Amino acid sequence: MKVKCPTCKKSVEWEGNDFRPFCSERCKTNDLALWAEEKYVVSEEIDEELDVDGLSERIN
Ligand SMILES: [Zn+2]
Repeated sequence: MKVKCPTCKKSVEWEGNDFRPFCSERCKTNDLALWAEEKYVVSEEIDEELDVDGLSERIN
């Protein structure tokens, strides 16, 4: 079975691949770094939403 590496979109064998679904350790590390950046942005947005919820609870 072949899968596409999420980082570089290269076709990579799934079986026996230590870095699956990535093609290499480099792509795995790159993806985790990108994911960490996205998570940081998302958690900032969630914090704002939590603040709004807290305010509306106090109003009610
Ligand atoms: Zn790759």
